[in-house]
Amino acid sequence: MSTISLCEPKYLELKNRLSQIQDLEVAACVLNWDQTTYMPTGGTYARGRQIATLKEFAHEKFTDPTIGQLLEDLRPYEKSLPYDSTEASLIRVTRRDYERAIRVPSEFMAKFCQHQAVSYETWVKAKSLKDFSLVQPYLEKTLELSRELASFFPHQHIADPLIDFVDEGMTVSILRPLFNELRQKLLPIVEAITSAPPIDDSCLYQHYPKEQQLKFGHTVIERVGFDFQRGRQDETPHPFTSSFSIGDVRITTRVYEDNFTEALFSTIHEVGHALYEQGISLELEGTPLAEGSSSGIHESQSRLWENMVGRNRGFWECFYPQLQGIFLKQLSHVSVSEFYRAINKVAKSPIRTDADEVTYNLHVMIRFDLELAMLEGKLAVQDLPEAWNERYKTDLGLVPANDSEGVMQDVHWYGDMVGGMFQGYTLGNLIAAQIYEASVKFDPEISFGIERGNFTLLHKWLKHNIYQHGRKYTANELINRVTGKSLSIAPFIRYIQDKYSNIYHLKLPIVA
Ligand code: ZN
Repeated sequence: MSTISLCEPKYLELKNRLSQIQDLEVAACVLNWDQTTYMPTGGTYARGRQIATLKEFAHEKFTDPTIGQLLEDLRPYEKSLPYDSTEASLIRVTRRDYERAIRVPSEFMAKFCQHQAVSYETWVKAKSLKDFSLVQPYLEKTLELSRELASFFPHQHIADPLIDFVDEGMTVSILRPLFNELRQKLLPIVEAITSAPPIDDSCLYQHYPKEQQLKFGHTVIERVGFDFQRGRQDETPHPFTSSFSIGDVRITTRVYEDNFTEALFSTIHEVGHALYEQGISLELEGTPLAEGSSSGIHESQSRLWENMVGRNRGFWECFYPQLQGIFLKQLSHVSVSEFYRAINKVAKSPIRTDADEVTYNLHVMIRFDLELAMLEGKLAVQDLPEAWNERYKTDLGLVPANDSEGVMQDVHWYGDMVGGMFQGYTLGNLIAAQIYEASVKFDPEISFGIERGNFTLLHKWLKHNIYQHGRKYTANELINRVTGKSLSIAPFIRYIQDKYSNIYHLKLPIVA
């Protein structure tokens, strides 16, 4: 049956059209990569226009009624072929994307994009001047437009469609109780850890020359399995991963010479995203299936490699002698135990991106709750800074020094929209723990491999169970398939309790 569909002219036409659309989108992506890596700043204005033109062409081609007709004609194949066959998956996923794309009028999207560009510029200025009032009217408009965007879709909660754009199948009714439970369990753990004697992590803040940091990072990511024949690494102010095809996946890195952790862990994080993209089955190339399943699943892969592997004791038993050899002056008197504790120090801090893996989700949940309150009309934008500071006081015991370190620290609400912006980070952490636990249960050799600097078993397992499928499965489907259970906070809480009771010599609050 599968062979018939491959020869079906309408299926071939759909694939051809999708491949052309993909080419336009990837070309825009290359221009964006160039802009953030090597382009001289003089090119900014023209580059914005060039990217917008390509995206507009891609959108026009995708919302062409012919695509809708082809999908309609192919409906019988979608029903009769196996659910996870490439053909049925392609038709199903494309239909979801198509139905979503045609609901939003293109004039609305153009208006929203223009507003986002101005709002972003104003945020950059307001942040540097530490003056929220400058960006407040723009955020009010963004909130209004975000609500309007959501209103184009049927929904139970106004945030549901915005969450669904990036984390399909996730809704406020699933996430709110999950996150509330997580917060209730994390707060006493964070309290117990931060009441213990603090860890001395000064060894990480010495002078670490850039070239040597990059050289060590290169060794690590090659060992982990990043394929330099099908990818490259460049420098940018804000690290990210771009995939232009399964054979060309690029990561970027930033290096601070006075902070050892920044470059290495953000590099391993991006490599986690990149391994996912490099591991997608070649059969899916050039189609909407050749991407990660969702924002939460993608983030789970970066966090798994960054935290469960990169901040793992066994990993450093293996790599630390090599690191000490490179940074003899800085680390010769620091034992592997001291180094391991330093890179896992837990502290209450005002900035999300600097947060350790224990407090990190508290930062995310503050944003998630405030987003919902704004969308529900329960929190006015002018009251946002106060609400932000109050919640930081309750959850993290501190009040940011100013709004730039507080409510204006993340670009999301100012350069994108209000709604669906943050849940993917916490989902990523939860899913990472659940998947890692399942992988080690499936094959205990995986964790012994990490201690020997052999990541092949883990890499192969992830490729087989997650990477190769691209977008065939939604996040919920994938989690159930891979772990045999639906999404739960329990594996993450177990992971945190095991790891940190050991690091901080504590008997952490017992939670199920
Ligand atoms: Zn990430």
